[in-house]
Amino acid sequence: MATVLLVEDEAGIREMVAMALERAGHRVRHAESAEDADAAIRLSLPDLILLDWMLPGESGIDFARRLKRDNNRRDIPIILLTARGEEADRIRGLDAGADDYVPKPFSPRELVARVKAVLRRVQPTSGDVPIEIRGLMLDPASHRVTGNDEKVVMGPTEFRLLHFFMTHPDRVFNRAQLLDNVWGANVYVEERTVDVHVRRLRKALAPTGHDDLVQTVRGAGYRFSAD
Ligand code: CA
Repeated sequence: MATVLLVEDEAGIREMVAMALERAGHRVRHAESAEDADAAIRLSLPDLILLDWMLPGESGIDFARRLKRDNNRRDIPIILLTARGEEADRIRGLDAGADDYVPKPFSPRELVARVKAVLRRVQPTSGDVPIEIRGLMLDPASHRVTGNDEKVVMGPTEFRLLHFFMTHPDRVFNRAQLLDNVWGANVYVEERTVDVHVRRLRKALAPTGHDDLVQTVRGAGYRFSAD
């Protein structure tokens, strides 16, 4: 299950793709242009972008290039959707940083399969597989956290926050992005709530010496990093 940002100006294709992805268990957000997509990404980082090549305003391929030059956004996988099926265009798309390329017309089932394949490739640690960073281990299946094999106790919100951090290491998230990703987009919580839970998370991680993994980035937000 992933959050997919669908950037497509044709309503018919948007509906068809959204329906197929939602049926496969994904959360879908929409943008009709690169400008729209910029705003959506500022709100929260998607797990994957399905990007139409031919968009009003900035083209999909220029948008992809721009994302790949941005440190905070370059890791978001991109699948280009396009009516251009020529080999030269395919190479241009992949050169721009797209992870895959689906020529139109495509079947919804084929697209869902490509999304799944790209997510599997880029997120080997997602799902129920335990994640380990510098001796800190989080097991999503059993909801257990250990630090250097010692049990780490924390509340459910801290657990979700840590899970999000550990599956998205080395990236800076502002408070709004953390709220959207950890608390959910439709929940009204003040931004300083994030600071409270980050503080609790650090406190929980302190006994095993893992509190420094949760880093404050002045003026920007928080980052989880072993560096
Ligand atoms: Ca289009």
